[in-house]
Amino acid sequence: MIIVKDLHKKFENNHVLRGVNYHVHQGEKVVVIGPSGSGKSTFLRCMNLLETPTSGEIWVDGVNITDTKTDIDKVRQHLGMVFQNFNLFDNLTIMNNITLSPIKLRLMSKEEASENALKLLERVGLTEKADAYPSQLSGGQKQRVAIVRSLAMNPRVMLFDEPTSALDPEMVGEVLDVMKGLADSGMTMVVVTHEMGFAREVGTKVLFMDEGVIMEENTPQEFFNHPKSPRLQEFLSKVL
Ligand code: ATP
Ligand code: MG
Repeated sequence: MIIVKDLHKKFENNHVLRGVNYHVHQGEKVVVIGPSGSGKSTFLRCMNLLETPTSGEIWVDGVNITDTKTDIDKVRQHLGMVFQNFNLFDNLTIMNNITLSPIKLRLMSKEEASENALKLLERVGLTEKADAYPSQLSGGQKQRVAIVRSLAMNPRVMLFDEPTSALDPEMVGEVLDVMKGLADSGMTMVVVTHEMGFAREVGTKVLFMDEGVIMEENTPQEFFNHPKSPRLQEFLSKVL
């Protein structure tokens, strides 16, 4: 579904990604962990070309998105992304946040988009917030809206970059629950997170990114119980 081949990314002299190779298969929940600055966000952002790779290839559903001839807007429609800081449009209601893209891209009529948005809001328990503005929502509620806004585009893959890191502790659970539900529904997911419980419980694969490469990759069971590289052993001893 997503194939990453020898991906490199440099910011000026900072060689951030140093040859990342990975294949995300349909239905997998890939959890990425690793120290701050190791390139996790850059890796995720390259997957939908929010960052332009310096070299290497990324294929999404058989399309080489790093080929300059590819219409990246088309590809992005199928790649949902959720960020740490929600990125909702503050001047639009929750309903309009969710329906904006489907209507603008003419994927749905206004009526269809609204109906779909209400169904999605119901799924995350926020039907009564349809006409509210983002400033009237808690962090956890905003993040649940950000997730369903992505889902309104019927993505084939969902990318999450530390979706719970900006939340007060008591709101982390409600967002993780929505993500677990999404995982159970069969969605292909790539999740950068510090939530080790989520990685263990929901991940089908866990990756350890360090200094711009995937240093270790395994099933959650093996990854957490039998880490191979000393770097991962050290990292886990600090976070577990
Ligand atoms: P964290 O856990 O803190 O989120 P990360 O693993 O996601 O870290 P990245 O955000 O991918 O790390 O950053 C990797 C390196 O790339 C850092 O040295 C960072 O300063 C640099 N970097 C990231 N984005 C940019 C940018 N737009 N311009 C210049 N340098 C950048
Ligand atoms: Mg990051």
